[in-house]
Amino acid sequence: MADKITIAADGTLDVSDNPVIPFIEGDGTGVDIWPAAKRVLDAAAAKHGKTIEWKELLAGEKAYNETGEWLPAKTVETFEEYLIGIKGPLTTPVGGGFRSLNVTLRQVLDLYVCLRPVRWFKGVPSPVRHPELVDMVIFRENTEDIYAGLEVEAFTPDQMKLRELLHDALGWEIREDSGIGIKPVSKFRSQRLQRAALNYAVERNRRSVTLVHKGNIMKYTEGAFRNWGYELVQEEFSAVAVGWDDCGGDPGERILVKDAIADITLQQVLTRPAEFDVIATMNLNGDYLSDALAAQVGGIGIAPGGNINYVTGHGIFEATHGTAPKYAGQDKVNPGSLLLSGVLMFEHLGWFDAANDIVKALEATISERIVTYDFARLMEGATEVKCSEFAGAIIERL
Ligand code: NAP
Repeated sequence: MADKITIAADGTLDVSDNPVIPFIEGDGTGVDIWPAAKRVLDAAAAKHGKTIEWKELLAGEKAYNETGEWLPAKTVETFEEYLIGIKGPLTTPVGGGFRSLNVTLRQVLDLYVCLRPVRWFKGVPSPVRHPELVDMVIFRENTEDIYAGLEVEAFTPDQMKLRELLHDALGWEIREDSGIGIKPVSKFRSQRLQRAALNYAVERNRRSVTLVHKGNIMKYTEGAFRNWGYELVQEEFSAVAVGWDDCGGDPGERILVKDAIADITLQQVLTRPAEFDVIATMNLNGDYLSDALAAQVGGIGIAPGGNINYVTGHGIFEATHGTAPKYAGQDKVNPGSLLLSGVLMFEHLGWFDAANDIVKALEATISERIVTYDFARLMEGATEVKCSEFAGAIIERL
């Protein structure tokens, strides 16, 4: 009998050696990458006496074809009940009125952290000279900011109402042909994100947390995010962390908390990557930063992600790329992003041995130049293999 993962009163997950983990295969290349990733995850878990009972949930095209709904209520309820899950990419049909399934899942379960670790794996082709210096973990706020969808379209009655209100109440002059978006950044949501980043830094022995913001221009949203971060360090983390101004940049044994403006950060993660470790930032900055950083270490074919609520214990780990429909069913694409999302999930469950084994076997495979098409086109003397063969090669090296 497999067990449900539960959360204890102190916020730690209770995970047996035989947990039930729900999964969504995903649309497009999901049919290729999910079976490949699953085989490797199962093999690594088995090596350490663990067995996962995978529970399939429907979402996206498969759900629509079978149930007439893109995201059946049962799928959301099952994720709610079993806490931790993993998913392949889902199609977002283009056209009015349809919310992204990914965004819906994040909102319904209030998965307020988007966790994107970015590190280089030995052998992976990279456009920079020292990819080995890149080892950052981005905590991106997932629920507010300009991303919250609070927008009105130009030339509509809603826009006119809002423009008039802003004019009458605040004296703001906004051109009548403007779309208008609202950017809420709250203390509560900023600090729960920053708390998660700080806790992670403490648990994983990281050296620093950088608050990335554009507070020199957007003082009451991004600037407030920065200030609330330093406030949190003083109020809740002073035994283990210290803000730059409180230690003159010399934190001793504690974790250094510093801040950086978003535009210069995008330069410095390229030119001085070793200075960045854990990063906590708002939704839009985090979006740009995650993909820009992923490009330094091999691109989206290999970038993992997780969406987590550390308070309720809910977490859904996912490939960060889309469905790549032109390759669907060809057994061609790189399963690395979904597989490493599984590794991230294993780490989240405390299964560090199995997670490390997969990383080592992946590095060994890539170092031997056994790779899928996306890496093969960037490497000299590569042996290009299919998606399933790549998984097989990793399993042989576990
Ligand atoms: P995409 O599916 O990410 O594909 C863009 C390109 O990225 C591909 O053409 C391919 O590059 C490369 N790529 C993607 N997956 C790869 C893999 N596993 N291995 C190697 N390379 C990979 O983006 P899109 O074409 O813009 O979006 C397609 C659909 O996915 C849309 O419906 C979109 O809404 C959805 N989407 C879903 C998610 C999600 O579920 N989290 C995220 C993003 C997009 P090359 O052509 O150079 O080979």
